[in-house]
Formats: sequence, structure tokens, C-alpha cells
Amino acid sequence: MHSFRYVDGSLKCEGVDLETLAAEVGTPAYVYSAETIRGNYRRLDEALAPLGDRMICYAMKANGNLSVLNLLAKEGAGFDIVSGGELFKVLKAGGRADRCTFAGVGKTAAEIDYALRQGIYSFNVESEEELEMINEVAGRAGLVAPIAIRVNPDVDAPTHKYISTGKSKNKFGIGLDRAAAVYERAASLPNLKIRGLQTHIGSQILKAPPFAEAVRKLTPLVMELKSKYGLEFFSVGGGVGIVYRGALSSGDAAWWKGSAEGSDDINSEKEGERLAPETYAAEVIEPLKALGLRILFEPGRFIVGNAGVLLSTVLYRKSTPTKNFVIVDAGMNDLIRPALYEGYHEIEPLKQCSSTVLEKVDVVGPVCESGDFFAQDREVPVLAPGDRIALMSSGAYGFVMASTYNARPLLPEVLVEGEKATVVRTRQTWNDLIVGERLPT
Ligand SMILES: *Cc1c(COP(=O)(O)O)cnc(C)c1O
Repeated sequence: MHSFRYVDGSLKCEGVDLETLAAEVGTPAYVYSAETIRGNYRRLDEALAPLGDRMICYAMKANGNLSVLNLLAKEGAGFDIVSGGELFKVLKAGGRADRCTFAGVGKTAAEIDYALRQGIYSFNVESEEELEMINEVAGRAGLVAPIAIRVNPDVDAPTHKYISTGKSKNKFGIGLDRAAAVYERAASLPNLKIRGLQTHIGSQILKAPPFAEAVRKLTPLVMELKSKYGLEFFSVGGGVGIVYRGALSSGDAAWWKGSAEGSDDINSEKEGERLAPETYAAEVIEPLKALGLRILFEPGRFIVGNAGVLLSTVLYRKSTPTKNFVIVDAGMNDLIRPALYEGYHEIEPLKQCSSTVLEKVDVVGPVCESGDFFAQDREVPVLAPGDRIALMSSGAYGFVMASTYNARPLLPEVLVEGEKATVVRTRQTWNDLIVGERLPT
């Protein structure tokens, strides 16, 4: 379900040879496949078609490049946003505010005012104080704010602790026990219009039952609210996971496989597991259909995760008595997933070597942190200085989390469409690094 594969020993993205592209734009660089993004969107949308009235609001925090947003807007996607800046980008990319939902626990008054004036479809409210704030801002603007309340179903979804959100100990949403009272309060506030109910149980979830369990747990409440306040939509959030281990073979031929890494407990990134959109749809359609409402989905990672790779070049090799290091030109500032939540990325050479010998190495970046690694004690093909590699499945939570730590300029992003590769964000220069900085006079 992605467009990266080896052809005659060279890794291609659609019709573009990645080694050639890397030589042109330099490394490190992010590359995205338009075909994969579109394919993921369409496949999910088709799987959910039996629902009838539905809206896929792409969670753009996963990848907010304007070209990606534009491509999805053209497919008819709405957007799930988490800041005023994200709404600004959606509008710049040709998206519509009335197809956007605004999530997040810390919306400021200025962001609320902006989204309201742009005609946002719904504020997904995360606390009672936020509800009061939205009412106040709407009153001042002389507008009525459409809202949904994010309800935490207290469902345990197997994923990494930093990306689990549906348990009562998480900071997200309002507990099932409090939800009815908060809706009652919302109904009493003059500048609010109750539009829906939202939930989101977490990210990188590879089993369908927890999603259905969340819907079933919320159904009695939704039916009650529907008759009381005339709800228009129910949003099941995002969280559908993707394959990280064995990522290439999930697309096409894999000529070698990385071994399972260490003894981690992130069962969600184990080799081979995947959640097909059809499996997900088969599980949730029945309970969702029973609600008789418009259904919203907020996939982020599923749409873009396997549609992107991070290209990098091997700089040096280095051995200590206990380790062999391969030092590459990409760092944790460019792709922080391994450091932040032990994220796993397959490492594929852009040119297959003739030998199939593997060696156990740590693949690390140049940043001055021990957390700056892409793989530890992993068996990879023998890599020499100058060899170029792809860190697979880097399309989600990749570039968007990049920083300029160590004064490393932000990377270019390239969008591939068939034989055509377009630099859709240029590489920052050293001058860009000091924009806005001043010496005191
Ligand atoms: C992050 C987030 C999503 C998207 O999660 P994915 O795992 O990328 O699908 C959807 N909805 C909300 C409210 C989120 O915070």
C-alpha cells in the first residue's frame, strides 16, 4: 500500500530514482509519494462508504506541508487542526474552514476568535473552562460557536504510553461520568451550538476492537444527547496504525529483513502487523451506523506515514570495543520518533549492494545527544561512507517535529508524482537560522 520499491537494485519512489534525486537535492531530505497519500485516503474512504454521511478530517499535525494539504483538499478531505497556525495553513493550501475541526487542550482566546471568524465546523472542547472561554469569545464576536465535547471513554488501546490518550489518567477529554453534565452546561450557554461528540483513544493502534469498544461505550450517551440537543455528528478520532517493521515488504519486494530490535514493549511496531482500513471499517461500521449521525474520522499517520521517507548519507564508521557505529547526516532534530517514543524505522540502502552480508550496528546522527540514533544493535547491510539510505515510514510525525537544534537547518521536502519530483519546501540556509535574532544595542 505504498509506492517505494526496488527496481533493478535501486530504490524508487513511484517513477523517481531516489539515488538520483538525493544527488540533486542533497541529503538529508524528506520525500513523499503523492500516489501513496491519495491511495491511502481513497482506500479508507471507500472502506467507510457504507456509512453514507461521513467526513475524513485529516489530522494535519502528522504532516502539514502545504502540498500535502492541497492534495488532500482536492480529494475532498476535511482537516483536524490543533492550532490557529494549522488553520491558517489549511486556508493557504485551499482547504475550507467549514470542513475543519479544532482539537487540543490549550486553545487560546486569539485562536478561538480566529477559527470562529473563519467559520470552523466544530471546536472539539477538552475542558469545562475551555467551554466557558469559547462562549465568551463568541459573545464578544457576536457569533455562535459550534462545539463538540471530547469524551474520554476510558478504553485501553495497546500503544506506546506517550501516544495513548483514551485512558482516564490522560490529560485529554472529559470523563464519561462528567460528560452529560458538561453538555447540559454547554446547552445553557447562549453563544454555543452543540454540534457533536468527539473521542480519540490514541495513536498507532493496530487492533480494530478498541475503536469499536470506544464507540459502544459512548453509544448510550450519544443517543441521549442526540434526542436532547439534536447532535449532528460523532467523531471517532484517528489512531489507525501503520507498519513500521518490514515496511518495505508491505509495499513490494524486500530483499532483506531487519531483525526484531531489543526487547521493547511497543508491540504496535512489531514486524508484519498491520491494520487494513477494511478491517478497521468492518469493526466500526456497525456500531457507528446505529448512531444515525454524520461520522467523522481523523486519521493522520494512516494517510501519510508510509508515504514518506527520510533520505540520508553515511558520513563515517566508527567502532568501540562493544559497538559498531554508522554515522549518518540526518539527526534526531530531523526525525525525533526514535528518541521521543522509541519509534522504529526500517533502514534501506538506496542502492542494493551485491553482497547480502548483514552487520550489527547502531545507526546514529551527528547531534550531540546519546538519544540521537535511528537504530541500535540492528542488522543492516554493510554501509560505507557515501552510501545513501532511506529511513522508511517517515511521512508522519517526521518533518513536522523537526527543529534546528545544533543550528542544523530544516530539511527540504520533495513531493513525487509519477516521474516528477517537486521540491515543495526548500532547504533552510544558515542565514535562515538567524532570521529574527538581534544583538542587544
Ligand atoms: C493526533 C490526533 C489525531 C491523529 O492521530 P493519528 O494517530 O495520527 O491518526 C486525531 N485526532 C486527534 C484529536 C489527535 O490529537
